[in-house]
Amino acid sequence: MDTTIPEILTPETTIMNTTARNRQGMYRVVMDQFEHAADIMGLDPGVRKILSRTNSEIVVHFPVKLDDGSIEVFTGYRVQHNNALGPYKGGLRYHQTVDLDSARALAIWMTWKTALAGLPYGGGKGGVEINPKLYSPGELERITRRFTYALGDNIGPDLDIPAPDVNTNPQIMAWIADTYSSTKSPATRFTNLHVVTGKPLGAGGLEGRDRATGFGVVATLKAWSKRTGKPLSGMRYIVQGFGNVGYWTSHFLAEEGALLIAVQDASATIYHANGIDPEDLNRHVEGNNRSIAGYDKAGTLTPEEFFGLPCDIVVPAALGNQITASNAGNIKAQVVAEGANGPTDTEGEAILRKNGVDIIPDILCNSGGVIGSYYEWLQNKRSESWKIEEVLEMIHDKVDSAFNKVVVTAEEFQVNWRDAAYIVALRRLEKTYKERGIFP
Ligand code: GLU
Repeated sequence: MDTTIPEILTPETTIMNTTARNRQGMYRVVMDQFEHAADIMGLDPGVRKILSRTNSEIVVHFPVKLDDGSIEVFTGYRVQHNNALGPYKGGLRYHQTVDLDSARALAIWMTWKTALAGLPYGGGKGGVEINPKLYSPGELERITRRFTYALGDNIGPDLDIPAPDVNTNPQIMAWIADTYSSTKSPATRFTNLHVVTGKPLGAGGLEGRDRATGFGVVATLKAWSKRTGKPLSGMRYIVQGFGNVGYWTSHFLAEEGALLIAVQDASATIYHANGIDPEDLNRHVEGNNRSIAGYDKAGTLTPEEFFGLPCDIVVPAALGNQITASNAGNIKAQVVAEGANGPTDTEGEAILRKNGVDIIPDILCNSGGVIGSYYEWLQNKRSESWKIEEVLEMIHDKVDSAFNKVVVTAEEFQVNWRDAAYIVALRRLEKTYKERGIFP
């Protein structure tokens, strides 16, 4: 392991070999996890072969005119891993580390996540290889619309349904929905709204979808707290990444009486022993190009000090492969709640387990987001509009029920929660394949 490479790969990172490392990284991690769980449960060999490969991988190169009149050609991806349980579902990220292998890994995680949550979806993921902070809003709109156009009929409300992910937001989802619908016959315009979820409220969005992921992360922490008998109130937590997931998780954890003591993103690592107010920090981030740097109500630390801070809860809510052999041993917390996808690599996980740190696995911990997406999709299909209270209650129920299934399965197989979460998901997929058979 090259310990000279900093482990913070959040937006704006300019480490030269980030892409090369991730190319190996996340795909290897998701396959390690899959193989391990498949071995434990004795997954049917045919189903194992199917799930080891992605169904389709779409790479598009598309030109966009920039504000200065020049033309740039961008590369976008959409990987569709599996659709045995329903349409492909998963986010689009705009980040310089987006490539085929990372899209593959993230699509595979979506298949497990939707299967575990009991949703009628498969798994997909994609994005554009771009640092969005380098482009104006007008350029981002043209990039998004042209990317959507290039994907063409490879996405669709009953085929493959994108959503927000790292560096994408409701506005970007609205542009995708509008572009997709505009290329269809006017008569079908409103039957296509649910081609994408995570839209703004005026464009068919769901009340509560904005906070769904963070709300779900805290729902899993509450379930963990109930099981372990350790109250969240008074616990100290640290959060890596202060985007949608990092902020909303902090918001809901603060409501439980826990204290945010440190935050890290690509721009800075900030710390205050007496606590950082998530709402105040969020206001700063909104007016500061989405970075925490320059927040003057906390001190700064070096990036390497972050994971080793004395605290009870660590919430990685940025990119993959952040907790690795180089820093996992420093973690003193009782629990790691994986708000990000794939934040802990195989070696990092082994160290956490050896040290008795609990892990709430990503496919369970951050599933509130795609569960929220499911309700937005249903709301659009039914031309209804639901209240935030009902939505949050439905998300809570689904997260809780997935959590309980994981706990029961962990006891049945005498395995950890990650393996148990995989077994729940893989059993559902295996049953579907066995009942349905393989065409022809
Ligand atoms: N990007 C989110 C995830 O990784 C949400 C996906 C969705 O809502 O489709 O789970």
